Amino acid sequence: MTPFAYARARQVDEALALRAGHPEARFIAGGTNLLDLMKENVARPGMLIDITGLPLHDVETTADGGLRIGALVSNADLAYHPEVERRYPLLAQAILAGASPQLRNMASTGGNLLQRTRCYYFYDAGVPCNKREPGSGCPARDGLNRIHAILGASDQCIAVHPSDMCVALAALEATVEVAGPAGRRVIDFADFHRLPGDQPQRDNTLEDDELIVAITLPARGFARHHAYLKVRDRASYAFALVSVAAALEREADGRIAEARLALGGVAHKPWRDPRAEDLLRGQPCNAESFGRAADALLQGAQGFAHNDFKIELARRAIVRALEQAASQEGTP
Ligand code: SF4
Repeated sequence: MTPFAYARARQVDEALALRAGHPEARFIAGGTNLLDLMKENVARPGMLIDITGLPLHDVETTADGGLRIGALVSNADLAYHPEVERRYPLLAQAILAGASPQLRNMASTGGNLLQRTRCYYFYDAGVPCNKREPGSGCPARDGLNRIHAILGASDQCIAVHPSDMCVALAALEATVEVAGPAGRRVIDFADFHRLPGDQPQRDNTLEDDELIVAITLPARGFARHHAYLKVRDRASYAFALVSVAAALEREADGRIAEARLALGGVAHKPWRDPRAEDLLRGQPCNAESFGRAADALLQGAQGFAHNDFKIELARRAIVRALEQAASQEGTP
């Protein structure tokens, strides 16, 4: 690990000022991914700015009935928050599907959005990797790519985003509030993470000198009909091969009034396609309509040999998650 300086900030402005004076610095909260990256020599910040003392630990109801979650709320506290359990159980389910209890106690909500891919080559500083060293190559394309992308990949990178929580946040249409030297701005969740394109080193649209301060959920939580289905190699503490966040609102006659579908483990960002959701609107809840939506969501899917199986796995997982969401009867 490369030596680094350490500073502690108490206010957001103080953290931003420290960052402005030290371009080589990184913010650290739970450190559940950053410390791994530093130990593997993948990240080499010259300074760590500890932000755990910032006043970003609250969960508050917003004026329009949504929920504003401070960036430093731990994943565990968020999953077990009474309002999240009652109104946004899809989010609670997704968080509890990820990591381990110890990691969820440490990991912050903001940090969860910023965790980096688990591509094996990215963590091995002895091999090329366009995400780590732009222009050096992507050994995963012709190498071991069982866990890699089937949607939205580029010639430069076929990595996937590893978060479970973000898949639910994408389906719920959360927004991300960030602070920077120019003030605060709000980013739609769909625009926060990005596809690799020809800049695979960039995972998201956050600027280097910006800090996530909150995540806001809209009022609609799809508490009655939802499911988070995660398919993985072992029952716990494993990243998703494919995951599905499914949420439905149903008419009195059982037809679908509104649908949300997001996939994890398949792309460089949580994968949504409004065309798949449009296909479900007004349809009965059955295998045919769910299958049509799955086909639309997976349109253009492409495997790279070891991960070809993910295409059929994702199709079946989408149909099953929609069936679970439709049959479930939660609190309205
Ligand atoms: Fe690096 Fe992306 Fe290729 Fe993995 S898939 S080796 S992260 S460029």
